[in-house]
Amino acid sequence: MATRRVTRQVSVGDQRVGIVKIGGDAAVSVQTMCAGYTFEIDRCVAEIERYAKAGADLVRVAVPERKDTDALREIIPQVSVPIVADVHFHYQRALESVAAGVHKIRLNPGNISDRDQVNQVIDACRERSIPIRIGVNEGSIIERRDKQKRAIELGKYFAGHRSGHLLSIMIAKLEEYLEIFESRNFHDVVISAKSMDAGLVIDAYTEISRRFDYPLHLGVTHAGTRDSGSIRSVVALGSLLSQGIGDTIRISYASDHIDEVRDGVELLNCLALRQRKGVELVACPTCGRIQVDLFTLVKEVERVLMPSIELPIKVAVMGCIVNGPGEAEGADVAVFAGDRRGIIYVQGERVANVPEEEILDRLLAECRAFEARVKAGSATLGQKLVSIVPPDPIGELGSGRALIAQGKVQQVTLPAYTRQGDSNV
Ligand code: SF4
Repeated sequence: MATRRVTRQVSVGDQRVGIVKIGGDAAVSVQTMCAGYTFEIDRCVAEIERYAKAGADLVRVAVPERKDTDALREIIPQVSVPIVADVHFHYQRALESVAAGVHKIRLNPGNISDRDQVNQVIDACRERSIPIRIGVNEGSIIERRDKQKRAIELGKYFAGHRSGHLLSIMIAKLEEYLEIFESRNFHDVVISAKSMDAGLVIDAYTEISRRFDYPLHLGVTHAGTRDSGSIRSVVALGSLLSQGIGDTIRISYASDHIDEVRDGVELLNCLALRQRKGVELVACPTCGRIQVDLFTLVKEVERVLMPSIELPIKVAVMGCIVNGPGEAEGADVAVFAGDRRGIIYVQGERVANVPEEEILDRLLAECRAFEARVKAGSATLGQKLVSIVPPDPIGELGSGRALIAQGKVQQVTLPAYTRQGDSNV
């Protein structure tokens, strides 16, 4: 992981919902957007709270009509996370959202470009210390109103320079739009530049991070369903975050948005950018050695343990003891399946050997008991390794034992990460 890029910091929220900081040394936050109508107040509040419970730090809502901004006045006092108003086309919706107490505004240069209108939104946000995200999305970046300009931009777009040309338009429009904010001395800005093309997302944010010190909202837009969109999103966002680029993320799926939150949180957990809450599940993929229905078992373990355990207990569900012990190294609680049975270990100590149909209940009971001991201070997470000796390999070829025994295994030192164009390396 590269050192996090230093950005300006903006604050989103208020005393009641708490302040989420974006940029600077703040933790990377997770966002999602409501899929339902904002004017359906009770349903909207319930949707926001569902995402908040799953780990969303901020939730965005669309405000296409006056009835939506009116609804914000009732929604905001009832929710537990800061709310972002997504404004398209009508700058008045931004002004109404600010007056309703929203915590952040999202503007799109592609559809609010009148300077006087943008100035009015900037002034209203400054008065209430509300940050503005400027989102230059691929979908709205090509000119749509002026037919002549559109023909020129599209001509270049399809002339064999697809990503490069689009990236240039994104940067040009972003610079032009930012100039309005900077000339008004308004710097509470977050930038996003989304596309459905993971490569373009990586290039765009890498370039933007070189040019501006504003915090960045990462995302792959219209990524598809969770099946098609998750890899696209993780490739782009994971790559950028591992390079130290990105201050807040939104994963976008054409399915239940709770998955956006769960996957966003898990991505940050995997990159050690967020403190894990709840079970960390490790499971083997199974192979020809399996003697239980491991897929069903793992699904059940996930379904039952995830909502039941608060602490980040590492749980391993392994199909056998051939590779299982090594692969479950460091697990607090582990089950190794055998012939229609499961042997359960808690921090290296064998605590049970039960038939397949009792594995789930016993595993849950052991996890709960272990969690209680950790909470009481009589056990510590990640303290002991699973110590089960697997069958000896036949011969020592390839084991590295001789070199290890002679102390000839050297530590590998990786070169420091460098980015193309860095001048200080
Ligand atoms: S743990 Fe055992 S069953 Fe599972 S993949 Fe490894 S060798 Fe196969």
